[in-house]
Amino acid sequence: MPFDLKKALRPHIAAIKPYSSARDEYSGSEGVFLDANENSMGTPGMAMPSMAISATHFHRYPDPYQQKLKQRIAEIKGIPAKNIFLGNGSDEAIDLLMRAFCRPGIDNIVILPPTYGMYEVSAAINDVAVKKALLTDSFLINPKTLDAAINEYSKILFFCSPNNPSGNLMQADVIEEYLHKFDGLVVVDEAYIDFTDTESWTSRLSEFPNLLVMQTMSKAWGMAALRLGMAYASEEIMAVLNKIKPPYNISALTQQESFKILEHTEAQQQMVQQLLRERENLQQALEKLPMVQLVYPSDTNFLLVKMQDAAAIFHYLIDEKVIVRDRSKVVLCDSCLRITVGTAEENERLLSELKNFNKSQRVMG
Ligand SMILES: *Cc1c(COP(=O)(O)O)cnc(C)c1O
Repeated sequence: MPFDLKKALRPHIAAIKPYSSARDEYSGSEGVFLDANENSMGTPGMAMPSMAISATHFHRYPDPYQQKLKQRIAEIKGIPAKNIFLGNGSDEAIDLLMRAFCRPGIDNIVILPPTYGMYEVSAAINDVAVKKALLTDSFLINPKTLDAAINEYSKILFFCSPNNPSGNLMQADVIEEYLHKFDGLVVVDEAYIDFTDTESWTSRLSEFPNLLVMQTMSKAWGMAALRLGMAYASEEIMAVLNKIKPPYNISALTQQESFKILEHTEAQQQMVQQLLRERENLQQALEKLPMVQLVYPSDTNFLLVKMQDAAAIFHYLIDEKVIVRDRSKVVLCDSCLRITVGTAEENERLLSELKNFNKSQRVMG
């Protein structure tokens, strides 16, 4: 069945007329702005404003559609600005999708555990059921399980590739199969795509009207605190997200600072390369430790590590002020810790604490 956006959407969402914000009516930055009930005197402690909306003035509402920032992202990613939606982190996009497509108490989303926790949390907040199709033991999509999880009320299918917490890419051919046969929205969460040399699914947007790709500035771009997540999809889907988002969802500070940071593409690439080298070093060092049973292959900036006494090691590390993520209670992640790749110094610290743990065990035992 071909994807029909109007049918896929909740009926009342399809009918909503977008809110027109004060800044929708006039797009220039020069003028006497008496339209938005801002404080014309400026911002306490900051220089008096001029008669223009300027990036350095905080008393004006920011651009609701973040045109300038989107243009820069468009250039970096090679995606037209009209196919880019910006959210207050990916989390905002996840929530908006849930609200646009899933009728509370009726529809469901489909996820492939173990995976990113926000899909399920966001579904729960919106009273949307979650169907689960467990990944295989090697953390790959199992089409049989996935087919069994999908039903006529399934509206969004979330693939996370590379996946968190397993760290690996999902099978592209299988994702493609579902882009063809699933009649709801297929989300591919590419939060970690910049750590791989795989091509992003954004290059296939024009082929699949039901494809939405998510990325974030929180990981490879080092801007987790700024809260900037991207969703890429057809113009029709962009129009839906734009009309249901809070009008000024990206603050002026985030728009300005992200714009500046995004100039530094070369430094960003170097940082990613450095992280990848550190990941390799860390992986090799971890594999030499006696408590480590398996370091899973990673296409991300973290390692999933199966080890003896994972929970005990987790608490020991916390006492030593080295904080990793305990995934040992997560399905298919028995006895696993998820370890973010740190700086060389941080990784050394982690490794020496792990070696100390062994000694402390021997003394006690
Ligand atoms: C970290 C992460 C995100 C990013 O979320 P933000 O809200 O943009 O910081 C999204 N998806 C996955 C799978 C992640 O691991």
